[in-house]
Amino acid sequence: MQRDGLWQAVLGEIELTVSRGNFVTWFKPTQLLSHTDTSAVIGVPNVFIKQQLERKYNDLIRSTLEKNGVLAEVIEYKMSTMAPSARTFDESVLAPNGQQTADRFAPPRSTSPVMTTGASGPHDVVTGSAGAGTLGNGLTHSYRQGINERYTFDNFIVGSGNELAFAACQSIAQMPGTKYNPLFLYGGVGIGKTHLIQAVGNAVKAQNPKAKILYISTEQFVQEFVAALRFRKTADFASYYRSADVLIVDDIQFIAGKEKMQEEFFHTFNALHQANKQIIISSDKPPKDIATLEERLQSRFAWGMSIDMQIPDFETRCAIVQTKAQTHEVELPADVVEYLANHIQTNIRELEGALNQLLAFCEMRNLEPSLSVAGSLLGSAKVRPKHLSAKQIIERTCKHFQIPMEDILGPKRDKDIVVPRQIAMYMLRSELHLSFPKIARELGRKDHTTAIHSVEKITKESQLDADLRSTLSEIKERLYA
Ligand code: ADP
Ligand code: MG
Repeated sequence: MQRDGLWQAVLGEIELTVSRGNFVTWFKPTQLLSHTDTSAVIGVPNVFIKQQLERKYNDLIRSTLEKNGVLAEVIEYKMSTMAPSARTFDESVLAPNGQQTADRFAPPRSTSPVMTTGASGPHDVVTGSAGAGTLGNGLTHSYRQGINERYTFDNFIVGSGNELAFAACQSIAQMPGTKYNPLFLYGGVGIGKTHLIQAVGNAVKAQNPKAKILYISTEQFVQEFVAALRFRKTADFASYYRSADVLIVDDIQFIAGKEKMQEEFFHTFNALHQANKQIIISSDKPPKDIATLEERLQSRFAWGMSIDMQIPDFETRCAIVQTKAQTHEVELPADVVEYLANHIQTNIRELEGALNQLLAFCEMRNLEPSLSVAGSLLGSAKVRPKHLSAKQIIERTCKHFQIPMEDILGPKRDKDIVVPRQIAMYMLRSELHLSFPKIARELGRKDHTTAIHSVEKITKESQLDADLRSTLSEIKERLYA
C-alpha cells in the first residue's frame, strides 16, 4: 500500500475508536513519514501531540498499524512541519501561502501586542477590522471596538464540548450568509464563545479583506444605540449596522428588557438576513431563557442554528493548558498540566488565569513549574478529594437510579440497568480518568470496547440532552458533597 493510503486506513480505524475531539486534536494533524517492516516514523506538528501519542496512544497506533500489515516494533514520533492541517476546513482561507501548518503552535509573533493579555477580557487590546467607528458627526465611539486578532481557529483547541460549535463556525467562515443563518452560540462563561465568533470574523477577513465585519458586544451596542437616540442619529446607527457583511453580536442576553433596542435589532436582523448577510450571536443562555426577549426575536434566532457549548473535557483542557504554556515558551511537565486541567473544570478563562499566575510566580522566583509549586500556589478548598474510589462512583450511580449493585455489575441488559451502567462508566472516566480496560473491569465486563462506547455515547448524548446533563451533575454533586 502507498504510504498515504496506508496512513489514511490507519487513521480511519482510529477515528472509530477514539472520540471525535481526541481524533481531531491528536491524530488528524499527523502523517506517516516512513516505515519499514519493523519500524515507523510518524510526523507530528508539535511536541505536545508527540508526548500525547507516545504516552497514551502508542499501543493503539501500533496495533492499528499491525492490522494494516506493518509490524512496527519501534514507532518514532518526529516533529515535522509537513504534517497536514489539524483543521477540517480549507486553511488556505487563513494563510494562502501555506505557512499555516508551520506556525500553528509557534509562539506569538513579537509584533503582536495582544498575546500576553492572558486572563483579561477580550476587549482589552483590539486590533480590529471594524476599528473605532464613527457614526456621522457628533457621535464617535469613545471606546475601541472590533475584532481581536489573537482569536483564531488555529489557536482554538477542539474537543468534546466545543467541536460542534467549532465546525459550524468554520463552515460559516468559508461561506458566510449561506448556511446556519443566524448562528446562535450559547453556553457558560469563559468557555470560548467570544473566541470562536471572533475567529469567524478573522477568517472571513483573511479571505476577503474587503468584507465588512462588525463585531460588537451587546453592552456596547446598547450604549451606542442610546447615544444615537440622544443625538438623533438613529438613522446613521441603523445604516451602519445594516451595511455589515458579517454582524457578530456578543452576549445578546444583555438585550433583555431593552425594548427599543430589541425593536431596532429586529429590523437590523431582518435587513441583514434578507440580504443573505451572516449574523452570529452569542449568549450565556438559549433564547427562550432570556427574560423579556421579545417573541419575534426569539423566533428569528431559531431560524438558523443554535448550538450549546460546554466546557471541554479533561483531555482537551490539558491540550489547552499545554498550548497556552507553549505560547509563553514554557514546556510544562505533564503532571502540572493535568493538575491545572483538573483543578479548574468549568471555565477556560480561569484555567488560563491559573496558568498565568503559575508562570508569573515561577518566573519571579526563578523556579521550574512543578506539581508542588502549582499545588501550594493554587491549592484551595476547590481541589477535589483524592480518595474518591471507583466503588463510590458506582454505588452513587446505583443509588441515584435506585438499582442494586449486583445488577449493574451483573449480566442484565435491560435498558434501566444498561443506561446507569453506561453512566457509571462515563463517571469513572470523567472523574477518575481510569483507562477503558480498568473501567470495564470495575463494572465486571471483559471487553473494554463496551467501556469506550459507553463513555462516547454518554458524552455525545449529554451534549444534546439537558436531562442527562442534570442527572450527571446531580450524581457528581452528591459524590463531592
Ligand atoms: P466566553 O466568550 O465563552 O465567555 P472566551 O471566548 O472569552 O469565553 O474564552 C475565554 C478564554 O479562554 C479566551 O482567552 C479564549 O481564548 C480561551 N479559550 C476558550 N476555549 C478555548 C479553546 N478551546 N482553545 C483555546 N483557548 C480557548
Ligand atoms: Mg464572551
